[in-house]
Amino acid sequence: MEMLLRVRAVGPWRMNAYVLVCPATMQSVLIDPGDEPRALDALLEGTRPAAILLTHSHLDHTGALEVMRARLRVPVMAHPDFAGLAVDRALADGDSIAVGEHRLIAHHAPGHTPDQVCFSVEQDERIVVGDTIFEGGPGKTWSSEDFRTTLDTLRRVILAWPDETRCYPGHGGPFRLADIRGAVESFIARDHGRFCGDATWGM
Ligand SMILES: [Zn+2]
Ligand SMILES: [Zn+2]
Repeated sequence: MEMLLRVRAVGPWRMNAYVLVCPATMQSVLIDPGDEPRALDALLEGTRPAAILLTHSHLDHTGALEVMRARLRVPVMAHPDFAGLAVDRALADGDSIAVGEHRLIAHHAPGHTPDQVCFSVEQDERIVVGDTIFEGGPGKTWSSEDFRTTLDTLRRVILAWPDETRCYPGHGGPFRLADIRGAVESFIARDHGRFCGDATWGM
């Protein structure tokens, strides 16, 4: 039986908090406790939380981290470069996280931030991508170096995923990689000079 995926947009940035549940054991992980602890409690209802996972250290994704960490008493897992908060388990690229009878795989995807991680469900088409990519473009960058890192991540990490991949982003709805692959390929083939900021696939 495939993992259950629950989602709720929380806080002023409507950041998607995700809960992935193993239906056989009801063990779960909470991804990105951004805000609204009571809504996060509701997402976790009926499950046995095993960890809090963080896609990256931006405040819209971590605003309720300390509240939820104190409440759940489970390890917090994130990339070792995670800024500002203590992490119980540092996740390297390719690391796996057991959730009941299932496993998640961490994919380091720097650009939007140096500590950006995506979480794929093993033997499943779903990947929680944080702010790496959205249906309309890549995550925002604040320097041309970071933007070039984003282009490298798109080429090396994102385009290496199969077409049937379903991406679950930090903001907005999910999308199929097949539906944006052509736009991403055209985007990385164009010369963007020393651009940084909010990009769309069409530019
Ligand atoms: Zn972000
Ligand atoms: Zn965000």
